[in-house]
Amino acid sequence: MNNELPLYQCHKRVRAAKIEHINVFNENGDAELICEGGYETSVAGEWLARVAPPGAAHSLIGGYIVQYGDGYASWSPAAAFEDGYTLIEQPKPAEPQPPVQAPPVDRSAQQLSSGEPVDDEHRMINPATGLQKDYVVLTAEERAKGFVRPVRNTYVHVGHGAKFDGPVQMTRGSGCGAATTISRDIAETYARDPKFYSGTFCIGCRTHLPLSEFVWDGTNEVVGS
Ligand SMILES: [Zn+2]
Repeated sequence: MNNELPLYQCHKRVRAAKIEHINVFNENGDAELICEGGYETSVAGEWLARVAPPGAAHSLIGGYIVQYGDGYASWSPAAAFEDGYTLIEQPKPAEPQPPVQAPPVDRSAQQLSSGEPVDDEHRMINPATGLQKDYVVLTAEERAKGFVRPVRNTYVHVGHGAKFDGPVQMTRGSGCGAATTISRDIAETYARDPKFYSGTFCIGCRTHLPLSEFVWDGTNEVVGS
């Protein structure tokens, strides 16, 4: 037996980028990797589970995702990658989108989510669910005038004191951690007017709490900001 293994030299070309942020965007753990230089690529949750220690996807930040021609992808520490590879071609990253120009919101353009006019009774709480009878939203016509934030439909109850490294939560805050998904009209109302609501419902706590206790799922952006 010989414990010195055979020697190889790499002659493959690979695509690679240094990971700066990891945005997990669904319950399978599939994620968008935001990389240095304005590049991004998506990976399956299984890939993250294979290359990162459990619960430590953030440890991949600062290293490279390396894509081989056959669809295989691996992760490499920065020093090992930069030592072994020379950059030969840099595709131009997509131009950043200009900020959305939307006219100022008209908050008087309200209705209930059910389509009915706003009444006094909509705030009545259903004791079985903790939900209100109905919720105020901006009218479809008002929402169609343009969004000032992405339309997002799921937020996480992180509570106070949560710490983030990029979008990855490092320290659990006081919240219950539940992810609540909202209806399209409410999601669009947030996107049209981020400060329209002052509080929101948590499916885990079954009650309404201040927006400052929630972040949009997969981000470190506080709901209402
Ligand atoms: Zn909660």
